[in-house]
Amino acid sequence: MLNRRVSISLRLTLWFGAIFLSGWVLFGAAMWMTLKTTLKNERRLTLERRIDRLEVLLQTDSAENEADRAQDFKDFAHATGNGLAEILRADGTRAYPSPSPLALNFPWPPVSPDTPEQLIHVSDADQPYWVLGRPFSLGGRQLYLLAAAPEAGNLVVLESFRRGLLASVPMMLLISSAGGYWLSRRALRPVDRITATARSISIRNISGRVPVTATGDEIQRLAETCNDMLGRLEASVNQIKQFTADASHELRGPLSFTRTIAEVALKNPRIDAESRRAFEDIVNETANAALLLDDMLTLARADAVPFSIPLQPLDLSSLVSEVCAMARPIAAERSLGLEVSRPSSAVSVLGDAPSLRRLLWILLDNALKYTNPSGRIAVSLVAAPGSATLQVADNGIGIPPTDLPRIFDRFYRADPSRGMVEGNGLGLAIAKWIADSHRVELKVTSEESKGTAFRMTFATVNG
Ligand code: ADP
Repeated sequence: MLNRRVSISLRLTLWFGAIFLSGWVLFGAAMWMTLKTTLKNERRLTLERRIDRLEVLLQTDSAENEADRAQDFKDFAHATGNGLAEILRADGTRAYPSPSPLALNFPWPPVSPDTPEQLIHVSDADQPYWVLGRPFSLGGRQLYLLAAAPEAGNLVVLESFRRGLLASVPMMLLISSAGGYWLSRRALRPVDRITATARSISIRNISGRVPVTATGDEIQRLAETCNDMLGRLEASVNQIKQFTADASHELRGPLSFTRTIAEVALKNPRIDAESRRAFEDIVNETANAALLLDDMLTLARADAVPFSIPLQPLDLSSLVSEVCAMARPIAAERSLGLEVSRPSSAVSVLGDAPSLRRLLWILLDNALKYTNPSGRIAVSLVAAPGSATLQVADNGIGIPPTDLPRIFDRFYRADPSRGMVEGNGLGLAIAKWIADSHRVELKVTSEESKGTAFRMTFATVNG
């Protein structure tokens, strides 16, 4: 669910941020552990050196008496480790008096005759200490030398390291997310380009291809695969178009032959009434089928060579008047009012007169078909500086909003018109193709049971 809503670049950013942060945390933890071990080893070395020097002191003092030794030990302990040292006998009792009250009350670890050298962690008054103990024999006596050092210094270093690490997390998160976003946007930019181009390719411009950048990566392969697929689709579509054109063309002959036979038969005065009706039906149906074939052929040709109509200056105003004059008797026959308003002067546009006549006739024919008797059809041509808007409006049955986006599709007929009114669903597809060829957008607005209006705005030229 989340995957479907979140863009790839955002997901990559989150992943990048999460992985970078985990790496940073792992690296920080490893550094912290290393620092801790290094500091502990450092402390051990310090304590070892201190006990080494104590051994040397006790050996060189071997000629002296015990009281002097005790004094020397006390001086040594104060000079080296804040008085934190002890010399114990094998039974754990002190061989010499404690050099300081701190040492006296210090929780030294218990020793026995066979205690080996060891580094132990102890706490005194909530303060952590490292204690190094080492067995030592002096003049046949078994002693145990102890020295301690506070760990607090180490902990301060470790704590400030940890704080620094934590404080850097938001900054690292920001940097890694920004870096991740930048990288993913950069990596996905070619995909956006491919998407935009692929979206713009339709059956009308199927020869278009997505851009291929020679990067040798997955994106290049994706673009090439898309182009291969488009190539195959184009070949199939061309085959279908060719088939439609050929089929329409080939069917015309037998159809007109059938019609001619029926027309000839109708001329015979001796045929009975039933046969006459049958032949009349054949003439009508073949006439409709011929119109359908003509429309299919027109569209097949339009597909083969888009924008193939040659344009030249013509007077749109007189063209409107001409076509409306053809519609007037049909409107009268169906008790429909036909209002025509157009400038009396010429409105010069670039166009092809037969195609524009056909377009206007398709719109008018629809208005006549889909408006109930005593309805009203209004054709208007309004000229403005540099442009002229042609509109065909009616107050007929209208088009349901769900059908509106599809009425320009081939063979599409909105539900109420199916079966009730004659038609093949190709008229508006042809009208749209003619408008497109004139670089004009054919717009429609409609409200069910209220009416429909088709509108086009042409650029005018100085005729
Ligand atoms: P058709 O041969 O069915 O008229 P078109 O391509 O000319 O085919 O029109 C497609 C469909 O659009 C029609 O079937 C009809 O449902 C709808 N339509 C077109 N013009 C109008 C109009 N003026 N009023 C209502 N519906 C219309």
